[in-house]
Amino acid sequence: MTMLPKTVPGAKKLGLVIDLDTCVGCHACAVSCKEWNTGGEAGILPDYDKYGPEPDGVWFNRIHSYESSEGGACRTVNLPRSCLHCEDALCVTVCPTGASYKRAEDGIVLIDTDICIGCKLCSWACPYGARELDEEAGVMRKCTLCIDRIHNEDLPQAEREPACVATCPSRARHFGDLADPQSKVSQLVKQRGGVDLLAELGYRPTNKYLPPRKAAIPTGPREAPTRAASGIGGALLRLLDRALSR
Ligand code: SF4
Ligand code: SF4
Repeated sequence: MTMLPKTVPGAKKLGLVIDLDTCVGCHACAVSCKEWNTGGEAGILPDYDKYGPEPDGVWFNRIHSYESSEGGACRTVNLPRSCLHCEDALCVTVCPTGASYKRAEDGIVLIDTDICIGCKLCSWACPYGARELDEEAGVMRKCTLCIDRIHNEDLPQAEREPACVATCPSRARHFGDLADPQSKVSQLVKQRGGVDLLAELGYRPTNKYLPPRKAAIPTGPREAPTRAASGIGGALLRLLDRALSR
């Protein structure tokens, strides 16, 4: 068993805020993440059956797209999914070697691949499907929040953000300190009613999702276009539930 760090006064809670209203599901964030992390601190992220019928590989970020309809209106909701750097991260506490750990100073959850034995306990403990086994190296891998970018003093200040955030063409991804109530990310969560993914499980994810605004495309006759959708927030939560149970 591995302990989570004690709370440090003034510690940061670095994480992402993802806007499900503006994400267009283009996968640019996932591709940019794969590219950066293949060449960076995380090492090469393998691909399997690259040119075969069922290509697969290790990805830190995956996007799921769903049709949501309620109250006569419908829309597509795109859900980017990666490690949420949870505060009560059972993926850490189940680790028998100490390879999974959470940093006290900024809350980032990482894996020390030098001592990971690839037992997969952490991936079973993660309800978000955020950990993937590197079958070639025999170790677990996951989002590092681009730790080799965000604290990299060799990069210009403007580039010290996760690759997915820097790439997103619709500016649906935001990075910052969620422990600071004045930060841009905290303000976004406050203004837009940001939510925890599967909050009822008690992992207390640092990353937050901004729910889609009410759908604006009515499906009824054109002469009655004011029939607005309702309950998209509730529909979203059901979608997330379905997404994560796949
Ligand atoms: Fe661990 Fe999963 Fe939470 Fe990431 S999302 S900290 S892998 S439980
Ligand atoms: Fe969504 Fe932005 Fe990722 Fe595209 S890059 S899938 S818009 S979060």
